[in-house]
This record gives sequence, structure tokens and C-alpha cells, in this order.
Amino acid sequence: MPTETFEFQVEARQLLQLMIHSVYSNKDVFLRELVSNASDALDKLRLAALRDDTPDVDVTDLHIELDVDKEARTLTVRDNGIGMSYDEVTHLIGTIANSGTAKFLEELREAKDAAGADGLIGQFGVGFYSGFMVADEVTLVTRRAGETQGTRWTSRGEGTYTLETVDDAPQGTSVTLHLKPADAENQLHDYTSEWKIKEIVKRYSDFITWPIRLLPEPAEDGAEAREAETLNSMKALWARPRDEVSDDEYHELYKHISHDWREPLETIRLQAEGTFEYQALLFVPSHAPHDLFTQGYQRGVQLYVKRVFIMDDCEELLSPYLRFVKGVVDAQDLSLNVSREILQQDRHIRMIQRRLTKKVLATVKDLMTSAPDRYATFWREFGAVLKEGLVTDSENRDAILAACSFASTHDADEPTTLKSYVERMKDGQDDIYFMTGESRQAIEDSPHMEAFRAKGVEVLLLTDAVDEVWVDAVGEYEGKPLRSVAKGEIDLGGTEDEKSEAEKDAQSEEYAGLLGWMTEHLGEDVKEVRLSSRLTVSPACVVSDANELTPALENMYRAMGQ
Ligand code: ADP
Ligand code: MG
Repeated sequence: MPTETFEFQVEARQLLQLMIHSVYSNKDVFLRELVSNASDALDKLRLAALRDDTPDVDVTDLHIELDVDKEARTLTVRDNGIGMSYDEVTHLIGTIANSGTAKFLEELREAKDAAGADGLIGQFGVGFYSGFMVADEVTLVTRRAGETQGTRWTSRGEGTYTLETVDDAPQGTSVTLHLKPADAENQLHDYTSEWKIKEIVKRYSDFITWPIRLLPEPAEDGAEAREAETLNSMKALWARPRDEVSDDEYHELYKHISHDWREPLETIRLQAEGTFEYQALLFVPSHAPHDLFTQGYQRGVQLYVKRVFIMDDCEELLSPYLRFVKGVVDAQDLSLNVSREILQQDRHIRMIQRRLTKKVLATVKDLMTSAPDRYATFWREFGAVLKEGLVTDSENRDAILAACSFASTHDADEPTTLKSYVERMKDGQDDIYFMTGESRQAIEDSPHMEAFRAKGVEVLLLTDAVDEVWVDAVGEYEGKPLRSVAKGEIDLGGTEDEKSEAEKDAQSEEYAGLLGWMTEHLGEDVKEVRLSSRLTVSPACVVSDANELTPALENMYRAMGQ
């Protein structure tokens, strides 16, 4: 096949332009991205070999190679992993299929300072393109394991790239960066320097479980050739003693497995010894991914068996309402051949899942008191997801409730826990009151709130779609029923200035005529018109029956097509 030239998609082109022309504070991360991709490719190949998918492939010396040519000013990152077919190159490298890219570009443009922009790279799977931060031309040669023909892709990152097939490509992938001449004089950006490369690998990629070898410079005439040097320790962080691993090292692992660039909010370690041994290293991110609530969201943590990567997104290890948690679970006693079907039925996996769940919930609850600021971040980003657990995980309901907080009329800024709400309840108040709605403002403006405001009775203000559902599922807290202020008859009488029965009767009689007239004229639209003590300013309001859907829930179900 002859060399063909293709145009980048508009979005890919925009992205490349940003990569090439922005002044990033830290270009070094390009190497982390390429090494990360190489490592993924090696994981995939080993897994395929374990499953006998590619029987003829040699997997005895899987590694990553860094090859510097000072004369030509090139740096090559080479792996003998799974490689890519021609079609895969077109899809994975040639285009940016990721739907998050448009959003990424927007954020990148909005990030005013270089550090902000730099940080955004990699978030939406644009890792490979980061090579263009340091190179004015990138060549990728790859051959998929088990296939005979290879593919060469080249681009200067401008408008186009070329593709051609090659016959003699070794299995795996090599990415060659033709380093920008502009960086040649700048020691900080001299990526042909051995010292520089060692430093970057050590800093960002030490935990990578495959050897990252730096090839020696060609020997001078007559001198003995040096051996390639392995730059990383290859030690799995979760298997190292806790006090030997720095926060920075944990954070780099987080970035590698989550494809997020920001520091995680919280790192959680867990070890189980005994008959079923495993280690877990979990991270709570500091930001919710943009697709957390969409169908295709990849949830779950990575599963390893005895240090061997088995799968991404192992759903069996965490309930859906903890899908924001990232991390690694390394189990010692599973078969390397373990399949999804087996995992679903495995009693031990179920045990791990229960333990991880409890640990994550306990960690969140601890944050509430030990680090209120971090808890506030957590709640803002993930509160709505966590509350799904109140509906789906009855076993842990109390632990989840204890980790939840809710906006309330008690304080305009600080959310409250149910526990604090109950402590503040007035004498004679039996119920925990809440109201659901679109926004705090919308709820506060509602006539339903008038009597509560007048009498100083606290109301929880619930604005997430899931709130409609969990309040019904949970029903009560410590024996106190959860009651919507917008449903059924509300009796705030017990709290203050109760009207006597006689007074009420007199009132009913007085208004009987009006109520009858209104009932007749509103006809089919209402079930009943009655007097209420819930309003202080508005003349009338619409209420649902206690066991009827609230308007917001009706909307939600309608949106879901039900
Ligand atoms: P991400 O790693 O987040 O998916 P990248 O831009 O880094 O995004 O890479 C895009 C895709 O290209 C990868 O998901 C992978 O399928 C493929 N790829 C990149 N580098 C390699 C490699 N060295 N070997 C095999 N496939 C690769
Ligand atoms: Mg990548």
C-alpha cells in the first residue's frame, strides 16, 4: 500500500495546535504519557498470552526501551507489547473519537495560566499527542501481535498525518520524537540527556511493573559496549511497606491508572492476610469525571492477580454507587485465567467488595471531622452518586447516611448531617422535614415553606434527582420519619401556638361555602380543597397526597421514559 496522507479531524487539529504553541510549565509529562501507553500495551499482551489468544507470540522479555540519538536529536520509546493493527492506528491515533475532547478543548482555552493548561493534558485520553509538546515530528511504527504487517504513522502535528504499511516492523510499538531544535540549548528541556531522562522516569514512572531500559550510547571505536540500564524499581506500590512510599508516588500511580492529571483527594490502603490474601490501593478523585452519570461510564478498579494485571474496570469489586473510586486490587489466590463469569460468583470477590465498601464509607465519614474542607469537596463532587447507595445498598444504609450531609434552612452555607438535625429538633417535633426541588432558591420561594419559616422549624433542602428516591427508600432516621413538607397534611401544631379543636371547627364552617365552590370549579384537576395552617403569606398552594409522586419525581420518571 502506498503512503497515504490524511487530514486530522477539526478537533484533533485544534488540540495539536494547543499542544504545539502553548507554553506548558511542565513538558516532561510527555514521557510519562508514552511510557504509560507502552505499559498498558504490555499488560494487554501478557493477558492475551495467558488466555492463549496469541499463541505464537514470545512474551518472555516484555519491556520498554528508551533510545536516544544525540546526533539526530531523537528520542524513541519502544515496547514489545500488543501493538496496533492498521485500523487501530487510524481509530486510536489518527482521530480523536473521544466525546469529551470538545469539552477538554474548552477547558483548555479557559485555563488562563500555563500550569492550568498543563494540568489538563491527558485528562481526556490525549496522552499520545503530548509528544508534540517536545517534538516537531512524531513517527509511530507498530505491529499488532499475531499479525504480519506493520503500520507507520507520521505527522508534524500540523494539518495532516501519513499512513503506510511496512513489512519489517518488530512486534509492538515504537514512537520516535524528533525533538524541537528550540529546546536543544535549554538544559531543562534537553530530552537527549541521560540524566534528564532518568530523572523523569524515576519521578513519574518508577512503579511501572515492566522494566524501562535506557539503551546505552553507541560505544566508541574499540570500547566495550555498555549494557542497557533499567531505570525503574518496578515495585508495585501496594506491595511495599506503607511508610516507604511517598504521597507523590501514590499520586503518580493514581494518574497512571485513572488517566486523570490532578491529585487524588484521598488515598486508601487495605491489606488482608490469612486464607484469602489481597492488597488494595484505592483513590477518591478530587473531581467528578464529566461522564459519571452517563451509561457508558467505565467504573470499578483494576484487578491484579499476584502482580499480574488482569482487567480494568472490575465492576464486581465495587458497587455502582462507589463508581467514582479508582485503584488497584491485587488478589493472591485467584487464577490468572479468572473470567467475568467466575468473578460474579466468587465468594471471595464478594468478601473483598464488602470490605472495600465499608472502608470507603468509613474514610468519607472520617473526612467529615478530620478534614472538613476535603469532605466538602468530596460532597460537592460525589454526594449525588453516594446517595444512590441509600436506595441500592440496604446493608450499608446506616454507614452511608452517616457520611451524607444536606443543605438545610438552619444554615445558608453549611450543610447538616441528619444527626445534627435531630439534635436541633424542637420539643414536640416528631418528623424530619425536607423539601425537594430544582434549586435551593426554588425551594425557599415555595409557599410550602412559609409555615416552617414562620415557626422556625428546620427543613432539609434536597436538590438532586436521587433525593426523591432515597427519602422514600430510607423512610426514617433513628425512629423519626422523613416527611416532605409538600405532601399530605402537615401538622406543625405540636410545636407552638396550637389552635383549639373548637377554633378549627368554627373556621371550617366559616369557609365551607368557599371550599365547596372551589372544589366544584377546579373539578377534575384536584382531588380536594381544604383549609391549611401551612401558609402565612400565600393564599393557596397545591399539595400532593402523602403517597403520591412529587412533581420533580414525576419529571424524572418522565425523562426516563416511564
Ligand atoms: P489513552 O492512553 O488515555 O487511551 P492515548 O492518547 O495515550 O490515550 O492513547 C490512545 C490509544 O492509542 C490508547 O488507548 C491505545 O489503544 C493506543 N496506543 C497508544 N500507544 C500505544 C502503544 N504503545 N501500544 C499499543 N497501543 C497504543
Ligand atoms: Mg495514554
